[in-house]
Amino acid sequence: MYLPSWLSQLYRGLSRPIRRTTQPIWGSLSRSLVLSSQRRNPEFSSFVVRTNTCGELRSSHLGQEVTLCGWIQYRRQNTFLVLRDFHGLVQVIIPQDESAASVRKILCEAPMESVVQVSGTVISRPAGQENPKMPTGEIEIKVKTAELLNACKKLPFEIKDFMKKTEALRLQYRYLDLRSFQMQYNLRLRSQMVMKMRDYLCNLHGFVDIETPTLFKRTPGGAKEFLVPSREPGKFYSLPQSPQQFKQLLMVGGLDRYFQVARCYRDEGSRPDRQPEFTQIDIEMSFVDQTGIQSLIEGLLQYSWPNDKDPVVVPFPSMTFAEALATYGTDKPDTRFGMKKYLKRKDIESIRKFSADHFDQEILPVFLNTNRNWNSPVANFIRESKRPELIRLMETQEEDVVLLMAGEHNKACSLLGKLRLECADLLETRGVVLRDPTLFSFLWVVDFPLFLPKEENPRELESAHHPFTAPHPSDIHLLYTEPEKVRSQHYDLVLNGNEIGGGSIRIHNAELQRYILATLLKEDVKLLSHILQALDYGAPPHGGIALGLDRLICLVTGSPSIRDVIAFPKSFRGHDLMSNTPDSIPPEELKPYHIQVSWPTDSKAAKAH
Ligand code: ASP
Repeated sequence: MYLPSWLSQLYRGLSRPIRRTTQPIWGSLSRSLVLSSQRRNPEFSSFVVRTNTCGELRSSHLGQEVTLCGWIQYRRQNTFLVLRDFHGLVQVIIPQDESAASVRKILCEAPMESVVQVSGTVISRPAGQENPKMPTGEIEIKVKTAELLNACKKLPFEIKDFMKKTEALRLQYRYLDLRSFQMQYNLRLRSQMVMKMRDYLCNLHGFVDIETPTLFKRTPGGAKEFLVPSREPGKFYSLPQSPQQFKQLLMVGGLDRYFQVARCYRDEGSRPDRQPEFTQIDIEMSFVDQTGIQSLIEGLLQYSWPNDKDPVVVPFPSMTFAEALATYGTDKPDTRFGMKKYLKRKDIESIRKFSADHFDQEILPVFLNTNRNWNSPVANFIRESKRPELIRLMETQEEDVVLLMAGEHNKACSLLGKLRLECADLLETRGVVLRDPTLFSFLWVVDFPLFLPKEENPRELESAHHPFTAPHPSDIHLLYTEPEKVRSQHYDLVLNGNEIGGGSIRIHNAELQRYILATLLKEDVKLLSHILQALDYGAPPHGGIALGLDRLICLVTGSPSIRDVIAFPKSFRGHDLMSNTPDSIPPEELKPYHIQVSWPTDSKAAKAH
């Protein structure tokens, strides 16, 4: 496979200098901020032995003496080599004359994927032998000297994108998998987007990049956290699920525009497309409202969006949680396609089976005939006079199929939402394109409930987002009477049916925060006394958001899994297959932590150790 000129696309944005004057903040700091925003093309071969990258050579380099370093991609009849680096491929001619016998020996004998250094002249390929599919296809390298930098043993798989390999093998040899075009593209695009985000936040909008601790304390509610033992008997750190508390405390500290590319940890067991450690673009601002945060994020995504994709159109549409649930059956609707709750007369049996098998629910299909007659077991139960009204409400047309479901509102809606996606899958296997992969459909979902009933005990409440989220101003009075009806100032950003970000305006009043934690959520406020205290010392009104960077890059690159946009991800069981992590620790090394392993007696679990 030949590399397209993706790299130049990727870096194109860098060559545009930003013409913008920054107001002096603190003399020299502001001057250096302006200087750092005068960007230019990156220099890929500074400080190293090569003069050029393999992928950059063109006819304009003809006659130049170059030194290249790269991996041997393939060799043809001991006359040509193709060398590869991150930038692309280039053809190297193996000299045939006796005087170059030593160079020939190196280049002919080095196994595939060995890393070599060659020096020679850029010449044009003989007429008729140009390769238009290859960006360097007009030239080749006439080699004078060659050095084998390191030979490659037999590989566990070939470094060719078209070679199928299991994910376990890719993860076990991740350093080899990273040589693939796809992984190179994904990681470089990720780096570019983050770079532009930093530029937008720090240089254009005065945000401050601040690191917060990853050895922290348990946070009540929310996801399960990883524990880190300490040398004090029985005392543990926790790895934070997010920098939530710190970013709020930074606002109290007057660092009123914070951002961080933050590593977050959640011990949620094995989930197919989640990672126990992942990255967020974490943001917090003082003196801001929901619209302010939304405009900031719209601008951020527009600014950092890759040049080779259609530009992001702002502002993003917005929908309330109640509307999203009632019309799409989910709080993260894929708005690339309509088909809210209807499908064509097709596949109906498998849809019914899906809902019976997965949700133990019966659905009632209604087939609308050409004369708008209802062909359905439910027809008898709906008065004839009511039917036109239903047809109008559902915006149905002739030959449509309507799925009706009775039951508790949230449950019925979410099952219908899942069926909508199931129908989309079914129709797409039949060749109907519903979800255009090149389309990016952003959506804000707003006005979430502040609390949800706890799954394990529906009479108790838990935070829908997290306990620091402020109630909707018009619902505050309900907090003391019907808290389950209170809406919040929580907003989610959805892209093509995936939640890629979420945040809220926070509570900055200690009394209200204490009431929600202690009285409504029944949490141990002692664990959060530092936050409650801080809110009492002139905490400014503030709010923020976090974007899930891995998921965002996964969607932008169209990758099948978030593991494809992380250099060294964990397997879906949370293991690092390359280094065999987590690993056991000898008992004597556990002693300083006053920890002993109590081995499970259950034979299955024991075997896993
Ligand atoms: N810390 C929150 C989260 O990780 C995001 C936020 O509220 O800013 O979901």
